[in-house]
Amino acid sequence: MNKPPLSLYCHVPWCIEKCPYCDFNSFKKNSSDDFEQYTSALRQDIIDSAKHAENRQLISIFIGGGTPSLFPTKEVHRILDTIYSTYDCAPDCEITLEMNPSSFESAKMKDWKQSGVNRVSIGVQSFDNTALSRLGRSHSRTDSEKSIQTALDMEFDEVNIDIMYGLPDQSVSEAMADLRHGISFKTTHLSWYELTIEPGTLFSKQPPNRPDEDKLHQMDMRGQELFNKSHLEQYEISAYAAKGSRCKHNMNYWKFGDYIGCGNGASSKITTHHGITRYQRYRNPGLYQTAPTHRCVEHQVEHSQQLFEFMLNHLRLHEPIELASICDRTQLTKEEILNRCHAALEEDMLIITDSMIEKTKRGNRYLNNLQTLFL
Ligand code: SF4
Repeated sequence: MNKPPLSLYCHVPWCIEKCPYCDFNSFKKNSSDDFEQYTSALRQDIIDSAKHAENRQLISIFIGGGTPSLFPTKEVHRILDTIYSTYDCAPDCEITLEMNPSSFESAKMKDWKQSGVNRVSIGVQSFDNTALSRLGRSHSRTDSEKSIQTALDMEFDEVNIDIMYGLPDQSVSEAMADLRHGISFKTTHLSWYELTIEPGTLFSKQPPNRPDEDKLHQMDMRGQELFNKSHLEQYEISAYAAKGSRCKHNMNYWKFGDYIGCGNGASSKITTHHGITRYQRYRNPGLYQTAPTHRCVEHQVEHSQQLFEFMLNHLRLHEPIELASICDRTQLTKEEILNRCHAALEEDMLIITDSMIEKTKRGNRYLNNLQTLFL
């Protein structure tokens, strides 16, 4: 088992409001929440976690949340400066910052770029003001258009926009209008995903009127047609990229790479010669700041679980898997892997040729079932 490529994730906990569909580890910001104090804790965490790099360069850094763009730019500088002085970053290290569309946040883009951010990810969600208000979002269509244009004018290497479909009371033509408009900006990346109702969210307690299965299917089919005519190619369930613009950070997750997670609730996956360890920081921002290097959960990924975890991630991608890459990232032998593939082969969900494993159309359609065959 070789050491996989390494990424670093930094979590920022706060948002202006908690969106009714959101199950991320994010919180509405109160006046007592202090950006500077949080950054100080995050810096301790970043420095303490550097021991896991073990001579590896970082291939990507992702500042996510929450809403990182709410942070004052000087705190973003402090976070990135700490990373640069503690880790060895690859010359082509992808550095992403997530932002919500607003003029207040867009005005910070120049500073982010000076700090080394080369990829921005903009949470557009919809260009329809009524849909945005049903989603509890405080930005407007115009805010999104201006933010995207500013990011393009600033010439970040990569610009992603997030768009959702299957929104409350959304028609198929409204969903397509959103997607068509999003594609028209010619950003290098677009994440297009269905709104799902997650346990514990406001929408799970007060369910909105969502489009039925037939409409969702039509949205999916017609959306794929729009992408097929565009500059963007699907490479994962919800991710579409221009040539050469796949998100390195997410690709490393999906290919079962290693990652260090810093910040409240952040998870890490670290490979050593003894096996694969996962650990997590305290979820609560206040508690995290009292002990930013404490592991509140930690476990070794058991031998029997490793193939399931690998497949759970890699099967999301629209590309074949090299058998050798599974051996490389896990403690499994080729024979063990092939034995565990039998059920999926019999169900016509996988094919194996020349040491490559590939999903069939059926495997792609029933992906959840396929993944659970490796449990
Ligand atoms: S802005 Fe994003 S992270 Fe914050 S509550 Fe809304 S969906 Fe969640």
